Amino acid sequence: MEKNINQTTCTSPANELGVYVCPACRCALGQEAGVLRCLNCSAAYPIRELIPDFIIEELSRSRDPELRRMRFIDRMARVYETRLWYPIVLNIYGGLRSPSLEQLIRMVTQKVESANGRVLDVACGPGTYGRRVASPSKEVFGVDVSMGMLRQGTAYVAKERISNVHFARARVEALPFGDAFFEAVLCCGSLHLFSDTVIALREMARVMKPGAILSVFTFAAGTGGVLKFRRLRDWSLRNHGLHVFELSEMQHYLTTSGFEDFHPEISGSILTFSARKRNA
Ligand SMILES: [Zn+2]
Repeated sequence: MEKNINQTTCTSPANELGVYVCPACRCALGQEAGVLRCLNCSAAYPIRELIPDFIIEELSRSRDPELRRMRFIDRMARVYETRLWYPIVLNIYGGLRSPSLEQLIRMVTQKVESANGRVLDVACGPGTYGRRVASPSKEVFGVDVSMGMLRQGTAYVAKERISNVHFARARVEALPFGDAFFEAVLCCGSLHLFSDTVIALREMARVMKPGAILSVFTFAAGTGGVLKFRRLRDWSLRNHGLHVFELSEMQHYLTTSGFEDFHPEISGSILTFSARKRNA
């Protein structure tokens, strides 16, 4: 029996969740009663409400402030896309002339329009961007650290009768996908929150095919909103872990992480850009 398991190591079992790999060792997972188990290192990942959970760590004790904030984020899931949250954040941080959520969605999703196949939505929230991209030719995989957001996403997808969207709980630093798996990656409203931008970008690049497109919405030190003030940017970083990027800095991070073809657009302090994974 033991021998059999070793022989099947790192070959993907034929089932619906067979697209995921162990985020720790990147080997194939077997499915058993409510759990995905790594066929190589035996790590077990529970499936909660049909959402596989690849984060085993107890969040309230995490050393990562992003994960400790999750209880708040979980509670926010239901208002995230409503007028109570998103437009307010955009106007405060981005400036009063910031694009609306609808405009932002269009700006971000346009950049991946020509990519057909698998699309990853990193820190997807309730699938705000990903579920608007999903189509018969685009299969979207949304990952987020907040179970509340993923549950809300699942509810939206059911209500809006959208197919081809899958949700999993995972961290950007340890994505549960094999190398060169995606044609496109979306990362909207979160790059500025990751504790290490380069580690996050490198992991995204790993799961992208050469030439695949990355479409991002984040914040830059622009001319609108509170983020035009340097002291506020420094304060945001110190107190909220919010990085506000300079364009040259972002260009450097992208090059370091294996991307090229950087196309930024700034509106107020809102930065949207596309980049491509470099061919090896
Ligand atoms: Zn493993």
